[in-house]
Amino acid sequence: MVTSLEKQVVIVGGGTAGWMTAAAFARLLPSGCSITLVESEQIGTVGVGEATIPHIRYFNQLLGIDERQFIEATQATYKLAIEFVGWGEASSRYMHPFSAFGPDMGGVDFHHHWLSARGALPNLSLDSFSLAAQLARADRFAPPPPDSDLGYGYAFHLDASRYALFLRRYAEARHVTRREGKVSRVVQAPEDGRIEAVVLESGVRVEGDLFIDCSGFRSLLLGQTLGVPFESWKRWLPCDRAVAMASEPLDTPPSYTRSTATATGWQWRIPLQHRTGNGQVYASDFLGDDEACEQLRQSLNSHPLSEPNLIRFEAGCRARSWEKNCVAIGLSSGFLEPLESTSIYLIQMAIIKCVEFFPAARDQTFSREAFNRWMGLEYRRVRDFLILHYHLNRRTDSAFWNGCASMDIPDGLKRKIDLFRESSTVEHYEQGLFAQPSWLAVYLGQGLSPEGWDSRAMPAAQTTMVRSLEAMAARLRELARGAPEHREVILRGGLKREPPAAMNLYGERHGQ
Ligand SMILES: Cc1cc2nc3c(=O)[nH]c(=O)nc-3n(C[C@H](O)[C@H](O)[C@H](O)COP(=O)(O)OP(=O)(O)OC[C@H]3O[C@@H](n4cnc5c(N)ncnc54)[C@H](O)[C@@H]3O)c2cc1C
Repeated sequence: MVTSLEKQVVIVGGGTAGWMTAAAFARLLPSGCSITLVESEQIGTVGVGEATIPHIRYFNQLLGIDERQFIEATQATYKLAIEFVGWGEASSRYMHPFSAFGPDMGGVDFHHHWLSARGALPNLSLDSFSLAAQLARADRFAPPPPDSDLGYGYAFHLDASRYALFLRRYAEARHVTRREGKVSRVVQAPEDGRIEAVVLESGVRVEGDLFIDCSGFRSLLLGQTLGVPFESWKRWLPCDRAVAMASEPLDTPPSYTRSTATATGWQWRIPLQHRTGNGQVYASDFLGDDEACEQLRQSLNSHPLSEPNLIRFEAGCRARSWEKNCVAIGLSSGFLEPLESTSIYLIQMAIIKCVEFFPAARDQTFSREAFNRWMGLEYRRVRDFLILHYHLNRRTDSAFWNGCASMDIPDGLKRKIDLFRESSTVEHYEQGLFAQPSWLAVYLGQGLSPEGWDSRAMPAAQTTMVRSLEAMAARLRELARGAPEHREVILRGGLKREPPAAMNLYGERHGQ
């Protein structure tokens, strides 16, 4: 049994997943480890992946990356929320902010009070009670107030290629060796099938103890070499194509991502400093590629800067992310469409778990099982949350949306929705995404009307409650109006002092 921590780690792939892994390993693995990353310019990267969730701040802080430097290097903007347009009824819009909605009152979650008073508050949607949502609506940005009920998280829109390059410099400065070349052969040990080496087209052989498969959709090591099967979730998430296109930057870059439902899928708009990322996600059973490109072109808010980039995919994940001495991170382990910007989060999650379980023993049966259980759970949790958006649509304009509304959904998700419909209760997860406010944003934003709520929220003095909710919403609007414009904060290079990340990788909150 090999017990030394001085391992040779080989990462195959230099996209966002590969360089995030290399940078984190360089910082976090025992100093005696050697880390080699192999990538092929000839193959290139997927070239998309621009919106994140607040956990990325925890990742950057773990690596000691300065936020202002990061913003400059990746041409990032701040992100406080996602705006969903047309996902309920065709004319609906709601914000999914990185924050709770209102404070608990009398030990009862805020949304129960809002639901009980909502008949008297026709103009105050749930997101009127989130400072993050109000800031986003006003195209403003401010750091979250410390120690306050009004706290929120924030994330970034970033240029993924620049982020990979930034992390490459970081990793190479910490002794990660990069090898350019295409892997043409994978050598396995005859006795147990473990990976011993990858061989490049040039004939160079790169040996290792642990192999990290960051080879993208190809899944060169985990899928192609070790044969770990792919579990498709297309029956619930029917979109299987995306077309991406850059356009000129917006004069007033919003502090949120926009997701607009279309007749056969949805479009994203992601504001960066030097350009706007746009894309259309669609189901090829319902829309042709040429039409998708044309629809995207027609919808742009600024002049195009690139030709459309067509990407094919299938929602799902590998049955196991860790097999023998190989761990897949990124697209090689699975893919869920970017509706809630979760792929980079899943990459971070896998990296940190990998570090926690870093091999000390040759046979890591239990660690491997725990890792695979954990990652499987993470994927399924995100999957269910994405299905929720599709299933709760209230559009009536296409066979695509009718099919989504009437499809069978996973049992756990169905139970969760039924519980909310009956009692306004959101079942909490102990691990993983998403927390209660996110579910509320989608349930209520897309028009699911619960039949009942916590009886303690039925105010004896309803008028007082209505007044106090109106005053609360007015205060948040005022605070938002008084905050700096997002554009100004970006022009100044970001916040002068970076607040600590509001949550760690596991979504545990610690001081805003
Ligand atoms: C349409 C779309 C939109 C997305 N939007 C978002 C988003 O908004 N937010 C988010 O978090 N995520 C998003 N993602 C996901 C995100 O793009 C990926 O998770 C992220 O880029 C990581 O990709 P990767 O590094 O796993 O793969 P890739 O970028 O595909 O990198 C694969 C690497 O492997 C190398 N490689 C492959 N085969 C070989 C070989 N034989 N030899 C040597 N090297 C090899 C390639 O050269 C490359 O360097 C999106 C994905 C898609 C498809």
